Amino acid sequence: MFRTMLAYKLKDQGKVLVKVDRFFPSSKRCCGCYHINKELELGERYWRCPVCGAVHYRDKNACYNLLQEGEILLNRWTGGDSALILTPEGVLSAKKTLSAE
Ligand SMILES: [Zn+2]
Repeated sequence: MFRTMLAYKLKDQGKVLVKVDRFFPSSKRCCGCYHINKELELGERYWRCPVCGAVHYRDKNACYNLLQEGEILLNRWTGGDSALILTPEGVLSAKKTLSAE
């Protein structure tokens, strides 16, 4: 419901809502070096990247990663990447494959 309303408001302004894949590792990926911390537990609010040493607050790190991934998807779409689709409702996302459904 929230996503539908947000997409509607953005479409009104000539913008699109970019939907990042639900399995994108936003919390576990270091926004500095892109290392994926597979050991990160749900209750850990802060963690240090074992590769670059950056200390992350879980939610803030996820925000940076989601923003960056959204920008990448948007740039791919404007570049004509046919693996992405914009719905009539104004939501940009990767096309669903049969295996993902
Ligand atoms: Zn790192």
